[in-house]
Amino acid sequence: MSILDELPPGTWSPPSADAAAKIASLEERLGRPLPPDLAAPHRCAQGISLADSRHRFLAPDAMRPIAELQAGDGTEDLAPRTWLAVVDLSDGKYVGVDLVPNPDGTHDWLECDHETLGEAAVIATSLDDFVRRALAHARGLFWLAPGHEPYRRLRYENPPSYWRRLHAKWYATLGPEAGSPCTSEGCPRLRVAHSVKCRRHHYEMVHRRPSPFTEE
Ligand SMILES: [Zn+2]
Repeated sequence: MSILDELPPGTWSPPSADAAAKIASLEERLGRPLPPDLAAPHRCAQGISLADSRHRFLAPDAMRPIAELQAGDGTEDLAPRTWLAVVDLSDGKYVGVDLVPNPDGTHDWLECDHETLGEAAVIATSLDDFVRRALAHARGLFWLAPGHEPYRRLRYENPPSYWRRLHAKWYATLGPEAGSPCTSEGCPRLRVAHSVKCRRHHYEMVHRRPSPFTEE
């Protein structure tokens, strides 16, 4: 039985004739299948809106990775491409679903704000879970209600390309290695100006992460 059968009248509209083709096209573009519980309603409904249309489910041909919708093309290192926007809340806010399943087969439903790309709160573990919670809070968004606690919070570990872009200008100001030897154990390099470290170890000391720069 579909969750649609339990929804109030008027929350969904009948499917378009090419619904299955649109889902297949989306899955090919993403290189992964939609979670079965999410694909099923889209095979039988063209549009789904919950709670006075505040939660508008995107049609399959409008679904995109969240970072792509919120920050444009060429931003795949801001957030996982598997975080797919599925519910449009307007104002650049979306609820997403992680296409990578958890070990128990569930999929994380994610609250994603455009101001914190790469961070998400897990607010549901299935379509059914999400819809039931949304309908129980006819006024407002259930995850903003006082006392709401997400299942957990996710923080994407951005790849080196992200850190190179973020810190490129700062790194360029370090100047040449021309002082006495770097104080990091076993490092054969010399210090940059105003530091006891070489460029790589100075980066790691300041930013507390491995240097993303692969020079020399
Ligand atoms: Zn060094």
